[in-house]
Amino acid sequence: MMPLRRFTIDQPKTVKEEAEMLSHYGENGRLYAGGTELLLAMKHDLLRYEHLVDVKELPGLNTIETRNNSLRIGATVTHRAIEKSAAVRDIVPVLADMAHHVANVRVRATGTLGGNLCFAEPHSDPATLLLALEAHVHVQGRGEERILKMDELITGAYETALAPDELLLAIDVPLNSKTKRAAYLKFQIKERPTLGLALVLDLDESDRNVSKARAVVGSVSAKPTRSDQADALLVGPRDNVEKQLMDAAQILADAADPVDDLEGSAEYKRHLIGVYLRRAFAKALSST
Ligand SMILES: Cc1cc2nc3c(=O)[nH]c(=O)nc-3n(C[C@H](O)[C@H](O)[C@H](O)COP(=O)(O)OP(=O)(O)OC[C@H]3O[C@@H](n4cnc5c(N)ncnc54)[C@H](O)[C@@H]3O)c2cc1C
Repeated sequence: MMPLRRFTIDQPKTVKEEAEMLSHYGENGRLYAGGTELLLAMKHDLLRYEHLVDVKELPGLNTIETRNNSLRIGATVTHRAIEKSAAVRDIVPVLADMAHHVANVRVRATGTLGGNLCFAEPHSDPATLLLALEAHVHVQGRGEERILKMDELITGAYETALAPDELLLAIDVPLNSKTKRAAYLKFQIKERPTLGLALVLDLDESDRNVSKARAVVGSVSAKPTRSDQADALLVGPRDNVEKQLMDAAQILADAADPVDDLEGSAEYKRHLIGVYLRRAFAKALSST
């Protein structure tokens, strides 16, 4: 590993000040939160910045609260804080469970949800689950605050729709209704997941029919993927849905279009999608 090149750290007091700093530094500056991705990439000399703008002390970004029928998680909230939050565990338990399995405790204690999403590393657990949960994000730079859906935020591997001066402020997760069931499962043999599969189901009052489904596959290609066609096969009486799981998995795999890499062949990943969709369906139905 290379010794770190010299850089300065600024700690803005407001979002406006942060946006002005980023704009002033241009390509020589970068925003940073926990630093678990950025500093590692800088140590390996994969990224070079002369100025880092630290957003950890910006007021209001480090809180978890419920508002307007959604759970709002500030961008600088760490994975560990999400995992430990009584509110998250109570209201969206699948999110706390997912956070508990991100990386290791050292990365979870420092790495933030905002940093994870904005780095847009393809093997992200939160990006996959948050797309299934229909989360949206609030971003702001020097201009007006914007709201983006998850699939609008992450546009490709290491690519987001954020403008150079924009900061991710918070992530809003719509609150679960009583009939909603969810599961997030991953297959992991290395440092990061080979496959992440999230499934969110709405059941009707009888508990026998799935009225809405949202399945998302992550880590197998550049960004998390879903398919209306696959989701349509996951709707209807539970027994019927169960028979259609493999067809839905096939469609999801086509949509995700897995790549061959050191994690495994594309064919192997397609197989895993079938196995994990079946498991996620069983787990989602048994969740409360
Ligand atoms: C050993 C290891 C194992 C890992 N395993 C997993 C895993 O199993 N699953 C998983 O999902 N992730 C995994 N990760 C990734 C981890 O979740 C991220 O490293 C972490 O969440 C990034 O957050 P950070 O605050 O450290 O980001 P930083 O390193 O501070 O920033 C990362 C990038 O995001 C930008 N950024 C940060 N915050 C904001 C913001 N609020 N607005 C706009 N841009 C921002 C920065 O400019 C930078 O480009 C792993 C990482 C490591 C090092």
